[in-house]
Amino acid sequence: MTMTIKYSIVVPVFNEEKVIYESYKRLKTVMDRTFEAYELLFVNDGSRDRTSEMLSYISKSDTNVKIIEFSRNFGHQIAITAGMDYATGQAVVVIDADLQDPPELILKMIEKWEEGYDVVYGKRVERKGETHFKKLTARLFYRTLKMSTDIDIPLDTGDFRLIDRRVCDEMKRIPEKNRFIRGLVSWIGFKQTAIEYVRNERFAGETKYPLKKMLKLSIDGLTSFSYKPLKLATYGGALLSLAGFVYMVVALSLKLFTSNTVPGWTSLIVIQLLFSGFTLFILGVIGEYIGRIYDETKDRPLYIIKEAKGFGAVKRVRTI
Ligand code: UDP
Ligand code: MG
Repeated sequence: MTMTIKYSIVVPVFNEEKVIYESYKRLKTVMDRTFEAYELLFVNDGSRDRTSEMLSYISKSDTNVKIIEFSRNFGHQIAITAGMDYATGQAVVVIDADLQDPPELILKMIEKWEEGYDVVYGKRVERKGETHFKKLTARLFYRTLKMSTDIDIPLDTGDFRLIDRRVCDEMKRIPEKNRFIRGLVSWIGFKQTAIEYVRNERFAGETKYPLKKMLKLSIDGLTSFSYKPLKLATYGGALLSLAGFVYMVVALSLKLFTSNTVPGWTSLIVIQLLFSGFTLFILGVIGEYIGRIYDETKDRPLYIIKEAKGFGAVKRVRTI
């Protein structure tokens, strides 16, 4: 018997042995309260701990559980993408495994969806149990992104959200490799709304987003939604040329009208440092874009699945 699934819950997991069972129980409790057919779709992003065994164990006793096992760690955004590709529900919810996003909020998201919204995203009004560094950098990042792009990407919003089937289908048509999903969902459009919530502490374990992954995500966000960093060269270059011109006038008048022409070592070294620093920075910015262009042209698949459990016959579901 096949039942049409109403809700798909997509959970990306990477080394979450300490939280996965609790996470499953909380999600199940919440979803059972809807009295609708649902699937809990865990995407195991190449975990190296016991996550995989625990997921298999969970799926044996619960037919609502489906598992996608990646062949290695492809990253959070790609794991979400695979989840969306394989989800069959009329509404698809993306939620982290660590219970920082309260599963109970899904019911509120569903209410909004039933009111006719196509995207209901969770907006963090407070973040508990995160370092000042993380809070500050996140704040700065969301604001810089907002300033740099014309797409209306909401502030302080992660990937915890509900999307309607038609938004999910549009997501499947996007072939981009270095994906910044929260931006892409905004880019797709349709009727969107926010639900505010307090982001809790992680239930257990450590963050799986070290600085390196955070940087990658933020540069992906900026580069895929804005050319402004490239324009830095234009504006910065113009500004520096202006400064250089003013300094030239000063230096010339000193030379012509005074006898006070000290050999200008200091000014030379300052200018040299400033300019070479600036040039290198701009080269780096250009490199970030070129690297991404290269990624896009390679046309590799986004992820490789080692095993899929609980689906029946699995077919390739990327539209592109
Ligand atoms: N995650 C993943 N692949 C990764 C890193 C993280 O699937 O390479 C998952 C992780 O298991 C969690 C979610 O993405 O469910 C968010 O990660 P985390 O909670 O560590 O990030 P933070 O909340 O600290 O930003
Ligand atoms: Mg977390």
